[in-house]
Amino acid sequence: MTPKLYLVIPCYNEQEVLPITAPIFLAKIRDLIAAEEISDDSRVFFVNDGSKDKTWEIIKALSQEDKHYTGISLSRNMGHQNALLGGLMEAKELCDVTISIDCDGQDDINAVDHMLREYKDGCDIVYGVRQSRESDTAFKRGTAQFFYKLLDKLGVESVYNHADYRLMSKRALDAFADFKEVNLYLRGMVTLVGFKSTSVYYSRTERIAGESHYPLKKMLKLALNGITSLSVKPIHLITALGFAVMALSLLGIVWSVVAYLLNLTVAGWASLIAVICFFGGAQILCIGVIGEYIGKMYMEVKARPRYIVSDRTDD
Ligand code: UDP
Ligand code: MG
Repeated sequence: MTPKLYLVIPCYNEQEVLPITAPIFLAKIRDLIAAEEISDDSRVFFVNDGSKDKTWEIIKALSQEDKHYTGISLSRNMGHQNALLGGLMEAKELCDVTISIDCDGQDDINAVDHMLREYKDGCDIVYGVRQSRESDTAFKRGTAQFFYKLLDKLGVESVYNHADYRLMSKRALDAFADFKEVNLYLRGMVTLVGFKSTSVYYSRTERIAGESHYPLKKMLKLALNGITSLSVKPIHLITALGFAVMALSLLGIVWSVVAYLLNLTVAGWASLIAVICFFGGAQILCIGVIGEYIGKMYMEVKARPRYIVSDRTDD
């Protein structure tokens, strides 16, 4: 039996690029249907992430043009990760297998063929991995590499150079639905699902049109989310730092007693201040990081909905 595929595509303010890339997605779906690789009720499934431009109007018009286009619109901008999760959770009820891909044409659509082959070979998750980062600026390349290494050191299992271009079967998504956390770093969470998985390699190009919605600030936020949502090693580091500071302060006490006994206590004001400053700083740092985790627990306890659908093209 040929599987029913949904291409899940989050879109935020993409009116410039969508009219160019939507036909590319449709052509791929049509080719795969013609080759009897996927069933005719497969779809290009857009998730409008609360766009402020004409993105949703374009998606609605597309869905009128061809039955293979469909989409949902979120009630407001919820961010790439939430929009993608929303799309995947909606799609899993409607199809056998999903492939998530950005709508800006950066990810090579032809990798879909390879992903489907792996799926037919029994893989439930297939990661799209960038062959090289040549299309990135030196800064983005450097920071990304540093980040992947850091994640690895912190014990977070992640696929090197994989973003969110990924095949997931219905079975994998059903399991993924049980991850109830609110702070999302999907590429790190998906590896926790398990099942048979593999990677396929593709080259990532420049955005076809429009601008990136991942400025440095958002990138840092995602990176920080990845670390604090998936690793408790920072807490272990704090504990280690606590031990080190304790040992140092014991030495400091011994030193001050000896200095007192030797009648040297008037001098040393500067060093005393330095020590106070150091401990003050270390404590504030530790409290800050612990606060990060408490903040996360607070958000998890609230169990807010991760996405809310306001419209559907099918209504
Ligand atoms: N995106 C989204 N919501 C957002 C930001 C981005 O749905 O709040 C979508 C965007 O339309 C694109 C994908 O996420 O399809 C990746 O974003 P972008 O291409 O801007 O990021 P970059 O490729 O520069 O990292
Ligand atoms: Mg992009």
